[in-house]
Amino acid sequence: MSGLAAARAVSDAFDEVAVLERDPLPEGPETRAGAPQTDHPHVLLEAGRTTLEDFFPGFSEDVIRNGGLMVDAATEMKYYENGGFFADGPNRLPMLCASRALFEHVTRERVRDLENVDLRDGCRFVDYVFESKDGVRGVRYRDEDGTGATLSADLVVDATGRTSRTPAWLEEHGFRAPDVDEVTVDVTYSTIRLDRPTGERTVLFVPPSPPRTRGVAAIPIEDDQWEFILQGIHGDTTPTDPDAFLAFANSFPVAEAGRLPAEREWTSEEIRHYPFPSSIRRRYDELEAFPDGLVVTGDAIASFNPVYGQGMSIGALDALMVHRTLAENGLDDLALEYFPRAADLIEQAWRVAVGADFEFPQTTGPKPRGTDLFNRYVNRLIRKAHADDELTDAFYRVFRLERSATTLLRPGIAWRVLRP
Ligand SMILES: Cc1cc2nc3c(=O)[nH]c(=O)nc-3n(C[C@H](O)[C@H](O)[C@H](O)COP(=O)(O)OP(=O)(O)OC[C@H]3O[C@@H](n4cnc5c(N)ncnc54)[C@H](O)[C@@H]3O)c2cc1C
Repeated sequence: MSGLAAARAVSDAFDEVAVLERDPLPEGPETRAGAPQTDHPHVLLEAGRTTLEDFFPGFSEDVIRNGGLMVDAATEMKYYENGGFFADGPNRLPMLCASRALFEHVTRERVRDLENVDLRDGCRFVDYVFESKDGVRGVRYRDEDGTGATLSADLVVDATGRTSRTPAWLEEHGFRAPDVDEVTVDVTYSTIRLDRPTGERTVLFVPPSPPRTRGVAAIPIEDDQWEFILQGIHGDTTPTDPDAFLAFANSFPVAEAGRLPAEREWTSEEIRHYPFPSSIRRRYDELEAFPDGLVVTGDAIASFNPVYGQGMSIGALDALMVHRTLAENGLDDLALEYFPRAADLIEQAWRVAVGADFEFPQTTGPKPRGTDLFNRYVNRLIRKAHADDELTDAFYRVFRLERSATTLLRPGIAWRVLRP
């Protein structure tokens, strides 16, 4: 997703753009080996949706035409935290729901339509072409037969995800590798699909919240289905056996969590499992030297605890930052200009996700300053939001990355939170 968004961003600035993807690309909305998380629910936050809409006008309509749904998060999302559900919000909050495979398919087809972009599958990146005077000048890759090839380029974007090899490459070539902030959460996911009655559009969201190390969510997707996930944090491993799955689902203080998998038909054959050990953030923004001709985006910079649904949106926003920096600065010092800008937006998402993770005493890693105090305030806000729709609206907009977390401290919100 980050690579596709980046391809769209740079297509405005260069004559030719090539996307190299190691997987054979499916024709339709299918999962693939290179992105195994595609089997699990993917929420597209509003900041990500509007950015993709800017890049690809009509993106949301395309998703809906292919079976996705636009729900109203203010009234159709049932979000349970701190002993109750949020009150319905006063303003409509569009939330585009579809499987990750469908989001990716629609994005890829829109990239395919761009005249100056060439999508090449079965191409495994192996190394950068580097000249110490000029920086990165292209990539070396291998095609499906294992034949090596070189592609020259004025700019290379690394969007290879969490396992990006750029940090190791930097060290091998005399640069400093970025420091890494790592916050250990030890999350597991178990996902099934359920038959969904036509017209039923409820989103259920019950994130882990101490002392409960378990979360559950149901997201309506195409073909009248729900994606239904169990989440476990800090070693509360989610099951892959159907009986244990039902028992886990029944352990929540929310009746729907147990009822849905017990009463609705399962439309997936197996329970898919995914372990996610830690959120990581590579501090490229702190580097003083970086090769010309190269930038990094998406999970390759920051990979977030997936419970908060931020990754695709940040990938799109990173691409927007590449676009803006190119438009303002051209290629000169592009990386050194771009990384701090990307860091500002990553910081917003990181604080939301990591802040919530540090509610659990078992979470380890660098804790942003002020986290405990802010968490106490947000917990009070959430309890008040069970009966105050203005607080629901304020909280949801931060969660959706529409507004920064500091907006929760505005006087009009603070007095609603702090009054006895
Ligand atoms: C269980 C789980 C649930 C998630 N839920 C959400 C959610 O609800 N909402 C959300 O927004 N995000 C979610 N995410 C995060 C989301 O999947 C990623 O943030 C998003 O895919 C953007 O990542 P990316 O494109 O940067 O990297 P990736 O998705 O990892 O893509 C990297 C791409 O690079 C290719 N590649 C890798 N190496 C090479 C190479 N050497 N040569 C050529 N190609 C290569 C891979 O095949 C792949 O296509 C979730 C993640 C997980 C693990």
